[in-house]
Amino acid sequence: MRYISTRGEAPVLSFDEVLLAGLASDGGLYVPQAVPVVDVATWDAWRTLSYADLAAAVMKPFVGGALTDAELSEITHAAYAGFDHAAVAPLKQFDTDLWVMELFHGPTLAFKDMAMQVLGRLFDNLLAKRQKRITIVGATSGDTGSAAIEACRDREAIDVFILHPAGRVSEVQRRQMTTVSAQNVFNIAIKGTFDDCQDLVKSMFADGNFRDRVSLSAVNSINWARVLAQVVYYVWAALRLGAPDRAVGFSVPTGNFGNIFAGYVAKTMGLPIEQLIVGSNRNDILTRFFASGEMAMSEVFPTISPSMDIQISSNFERLLFDMLGRDGTAVRGAMNRFRQSGRFEVSPEVLARSRAVFSALSLDDAKTKAAIKAEYKATGEILDPHSAIGVAAARARAKTPGVPVVALATAHPAKFGQAVEEACGVAPKLPPRLADLMDRPERLTILPNDLKTVEDYVLARSRAAGGR
Ligand SMILES: *Cc1c(COP(=O)(O)O)cnc(C)c1O
Repeated sequence: MRYISTRGEAPVLSFDEVLLAGLASDGGLYVPQAVPVVDVATWDAWRTLSYADLAAAVMKPFVGGALTDAELSEITHAAYAGFDHAAVAPLKQFDTDLWVMELFHGPTLAFKDMAMQVLGRLFDNLLAKRQKRITIVGATSGDTGSAAIEACRDREAIDVFILHPAGRVSEVQRRQMTTVSAQNVFNIAIKGTFDDCQDLVKSMFADGNFRDRVSLSAVNSINWARVLAQVVYYVWAALRLGAPDRAVGFSVPTGNFGNIFAGYVAKTMGLPIEQLIVGSNRNDILTRFFASGEMAMSEVFPTISPSMDIQISSNFERLLFDMLGRDGTAVRGAMNRFRQSGRFEVSPEVLARSRAVFSALSLDDAKTKAAIKAEYKATGEILDPHSAIGVAAARARAKTPGVPVVALATAHPAKFGQAVEEACGVAPKLPPRLADLMDRPERLTILPNDLKTVEDYVLARSRAAGGR
C-alpha cells in the first residue's frame, strides 16, 4: 500500500516511511492511495476474532510489506495485553438502541492508549530494522503526555522527553507521567505555561542542527498509524452489533478529528456505518462547520473536557481531501486560506456530501454536567465529561429507529473526578492498579523556559545523540 499527501506535493511513501515521517513534507497529511474494501465473507469471518487478532487483520493491508504477519500479530497482542478488561473495548447497553464502548481500559485510562500502545511498538520494530534510534519530544497539558510515555517506556530505539507546565497540570495527570520508572523516560517541568512548552518543542523542531543530532520525532495525532489503530474498534463494535448484516452509527467526542476520522475510514472499507456524530464542547468549530460549511477559527475556551479544547482539528484535512474529490491543489488552497485568514468555506455540494455522513452537536459545561447526572440517574453508570458529550450527542442526533448508535467513552471518569463529582455527587475511584498512584515516587526535572537549557538537557541524555 502506498500513501499520498492531502496537499499533493509530497513524495508517495510506504507505511513504514509514513510512520516515521509523521507530517508530509508539503505540510499535508498522509492518506492511503486507495482504501481496501472488505467483502462480506471477511467481515463475517472477523466476528470470532479476539480484539488483538482483529487489530492485526484490519491493519494488515495498510501495513503492506513493512511487517510480517507474525510481527504485526506480536505487536497487537503485546499492545492490548496490559488492558484491564478482557474484551479490551467492552460495550455497555445504555438504552434500546444506545451503546457505550469503553476505550479507557489501557494504562493511562484514556482512549489514546488504544493507538499509542501499538504506535510505540511499531516505531521500535521499524527502527530496530533500520538500526536507528530516535528522540521523541512532546509538550502536554495533560493526557497525551502520559499516553506517549506509556507507549514509549522501555523501548530500545526510543528516548522520550515530555514537557509539561510546572504546577499547571492536575496531580493525577502529573503523577501518571512522573511515576513511570523507565530509563528512557524524562519528565521536564517547565517554569511557564503550556504554550511555552509547545513553543519550546516547536523551536527544537526548527533547530536543524539539534533536530538531526538527536533524530527528533513526534507521536502526535496526525500520524497515520494512530488513525489506523483506531479503525479497529469501529469494526469491533459494529461486528458485535450485527454488521455486516445490520447498520450501526457512532457518536464521538471530538477534538482533533482523529478518532472520528478513523470511523470514516472504517466506513470507506465497507463497514455499514449509517452516521458519524461529532460531539464538541464549547469549542465548537466543527459543529459550526457542519451547520454552515464554513470552518472559522475562534479563541479557545477552557472547559471541563480539556482534551477537546482545541482551535484547529488537524485531522479534518484528511476528510476535506476526500470531500474535495481528492484534489490536493484544492486542499492546499483551503488550508492556505485558513492559515492566512482563519477561515475557509466549502461549496453547498461539498457540505451536503459531508452531512450525508456526519452530524454534530456542541454541549457547554452546564449541559455536559447535566448529561453526566442524567445518565447516572438513568443507568447507574458514571461517565467522564468527554464521554458524556458523546452519549448526549448520540441521544440527540440518532437518525433511524432500530439502528444502534455506539457512543465512544474516551476517558475513565476518575481521570476527571472533580467535574464528575460536581455533576452527579459521586467521586469515581481510580482502578485498583492505580490506587497507590498518590504514594509512588516521582521523577521529574524542573527547568527554566529557556531553549538552550532544555536542548542541552536532551542532548546529554538522548541515546540517538550519543548522550548516554
Ligand atoms: C484526545 C481526546 C479526545 C479527542 O480525540 P480526537 O482524536 O482529538 O478527536 C476526546 N476525549 C479524550 C478523553 C481525549 O483524551
